[in-house]
Amino acid sequence: MKLCRFGVRGKEKPGLVLATAERVDVSQFGEDYNEAFFGSDGIARLQTWFASHQKDCPRIDPRERVGACVARPSKIICIGMNYRKHALEVGVEIPKEPVVFFKATSSLTGPNDDVLIPRGSKKTDWEVELAVVIGKRTTYVSEQDALEHVAGYCLHNDYSEREYQLEHGGQWVKGKSFDTFAPLGPFLATRDEIPNPHTLSLWLNVNGQKCQSSNTSDLIFNIPALMSYLSRFMTLLPGDVISTGTPSGVGLGRKPPSYLRPGDIVELGIDSLGTAKQKLVAYDQATQAKQ
Ligand code: ZN
Repeated sequence: MKLCRFGVRGKEKPGLVLATAERVDVSQFGEDYNEAFFGSDGIARLQTWFASHQKDCPRIDPRERVGACVARPSKIICIGMNYRKHALEVGVEIPKEPVVFFKATSSLTGPNDDVLIPRGSKKTDWEVELAVVIGKRTTYVSEQDALEHVAGYCLHNDYSEREYQLEHGGQWVKGKSFDTFAPLGPFLATRDEIPNPHTLSLWLNVNGQKCQSSNTSDLIFNIPALMSYLSRFMTLLPGDVISTGTPSGVGLGRKPPSYLRPGDIVELGIDSLGTAKQKLVAYDQATQAKQ
C-alpha cells in the first residue's frame, strides 16, 4: 500500500494512493499514521479494513494539499556522508562508522509545500534522500532481522543551512532543523512494495537543472547496517524516520558553492516513491503574506 496524508497543515487526514494513482480518504478508519498506528500492526489492519470499505472511501480532490506522509514522529534521525562521492565533494574522509545527527521533528512538512529560507540565511542547500520509516519498537536488532522492523520507505529532502551547520560550532542540528526543512512524501510505500530498497535511482533538480543523480546501491552503510547500528544507541520507535544520507551534487560541493534563493524551484524523486516539488520563499515574506 501507499500511505499519504492530506489537508490543512496540522490537521492532515490519512489517505491511500491506489494503483491507478487516484487518492482516497481513509479517515473513517479512525487513525492517523503515527506511533500508535505503526506500533499496533496498523498497516495490516488498514489493509484488511480497506478491503471491505473501499467503496465507502471518498476520492481526495487533486487540489488538496499533500501533507507529510507520517504524523510527527519521536525522532528524525539522519545519516551524514553515506555516499562516497558526496564525502569527497565536501572534502571529508569516508566514515568508518555511520555519522549520525538529528533534525528537529518540527521541521517536518508536506512534499510540495513552500520551503522557508531562514532570516539572514545565505547558504540554504538541498539533499535528496531515501527515508526509512520504522514499523516496530527496535532495540539491539541484528542486521539480519532489521528489515522486518521497517514499515516502509519515502522520499525526503534534507534541507540544510550550511552556515548554521558548519560555521557556528557544535553539532549539525542547528543547520538542519528550521521549519519546513524536512519535506517528506508524497507517500510512504509499505515494505512489501519495495522488494529491494538498495537499487533505487534518486535525483534532484534546481530550476530544471540536474544537480543530484545517483542510486541507493551506492550507500556506504546500507539500511540493515544503519538500523542495527542506531539501535545500539537508542530505541527506534514505530513511525520514527531514518534518512539515509544524500549523494553528491549538493550546493556546498560546487566550485564555487551555490545556494538557494527565494523563487527557486527544487524538484526531486526516487524510483517507486514518487516526486516532490518545493518553491523557496524567504521566511519574512512567507510570514507577512499570512498576516
Ligand atoms: Zn542529509
